[in-house]
Amino acid sequence: MLSLTQAFDKLLATVSPLEAVSLPLADVLGMTLAEDVSAPEDSPPFDKSLMDGFAVRADDVAGGFASLRVIEIVTAGRVPLKAVGPGEATQIMTGAPIPDGADLVVKIEETLPDIDSVHVTTKSITPGTNIVRRGTSVRAGDVVLKAGMKLNGSRIGALAELGRAVVSVHRRPTVAVLATGDELVPIGQRPGPGQIRNSNEAMLVALLQAAGAVLVSLGIARDNRADLKAKIQEGLQCDMLVLSGGVSAGTLDLVPSELAEAGVREVFHKVELKPGKPVWFGVRAGFPSGGRESPGSSISRVAEEPGDSRPPRGESVYVFGLPGNPVSSLVCCELFVRTAIRRLMGEQPPMPRPIPARLEHDYSARADRPTYHPAKLMWSPEGATVKLVPWHGSSDLCGTVAANGMAFLSGEAKEYRAGEMLDVIPW
Ligand code: AMP
Ligand code: MG
Repeated sequence: MLSLTQAFDKLLATVSPLEAVSLPLADVLGMTLAEDVSAPEDSPPFDKSLMDGFAVRADDVAGGFASLRVIEIVTAGRVPLKAVGPGEATQIMTGAPIPDGADLVVKIEETLPDIDSVHVTTKSITPGTNIVRRGTSVRAGDVVLKAGMKLNGSRIGALAELGRAVVSVHRRPTVAVLATGDELVPIGQRPGPGQIRNSNEAMLVALLQAAGAVLVSLGIARDNRADLKAKIQEGLQCDMLVLSGGVSAGTLDLVPSELAEAGVREVFHKVELKPGKPVWFGVRAGFPSGGRESPGSSISRVAEEPGDSRPPRGESVYVFGLPGNPVSSLVCCELFVRTAIRRLMGEQPPMPRPIPARLEHDYSARADRPTYHPAKLMWSPEGATVKLVPWHGSSDLCGTVAANGMAFLSGEAKEYRAGEMLDVIPW
């Protein structure tokens, strides 16, 4: 059986970023830049005032005191028309350009206005005080944002400052979610004997939306080959298909063999992990757009015609078969599916980023495999702390609602002591 590290290695060796698309800034939150972006001009574009006050000549205030003739008022958005000569001052607002001749701004709190003049008393007499020079932040041509950066508010703001209304980003993957199982009923329906509600579909859709994917919900496939075949074909129209259930060793666990039938090559099946051991991952290699299916293949991919309502496709389709137990599905989605989505969207690094946190209590671990245990991550003045929440195993989804992440336990029988550090992956 693969170790977690081996599984991640295989995953990352298989998945490559999707192609770039150009999108307006309003649509790129959480996406990753696919181009370097440089400054079209110096920023700030002119020497500007950091304060409301008076632009003066440093020589005039060298003694710390001066009475100066006010020759002009410049508000932000206007430009000074007059140069400041000896014995003169221009009243200036934050952000306004510094007039020629002036090399220091005395803030308003250090001045006393008179009829046509201003009395200045200040200790800040060094030339350049309260002035931010042209190009201090960036020079024209400097690369400010690099390909691979994930776009958040500050970076989108910087793109706007650089005049980029449209930028190149890796497109979002389309992901189909398919629950499998004869026992499943839609969530609006009361389960009969032997039946349960299909909770995985809603959960996986939510997790994958949060990851930035565009979702296609395929509902429930029954545990028979005809139904699975048809719905798997639908799912393979997307960039990724995520199935839940049917990947273990039961007689009706038909998912791996049906995926093989559909031309999906297994990359791994089963990982040394708790919960989630039976997880399955594979890929169906595509062909360049406009190309042909390789000879001998039974699969025909429908060409994307203009006006085609199907979601856009990359060249390969990635397929995950997650174990049906809800917490197994949750853990495998957080570990593997989200990592694949980060990779498709060009995010660096794509791996989950655990937060080291101090365990708040003793814990006696009996697991025989590396385990992700639902956990509550908290912040204290001394740093992150974590509590393992009471939890009854892979079917106990309600037990996870008190958690906001999952803590890694190494898999040996071990007495953890309060104060030990654990790695926690936040949800
Ligand atoms: P399986 O992986 O198909 O063997 O399913 C393992 C367990 O997970 C069984 O108890 C299933 O009833 C349960 N299960 C499977 N699919 C779902 C689902 N979509 N929602 C909730 N539970 C499920
Ligand atoms: Mg099943």
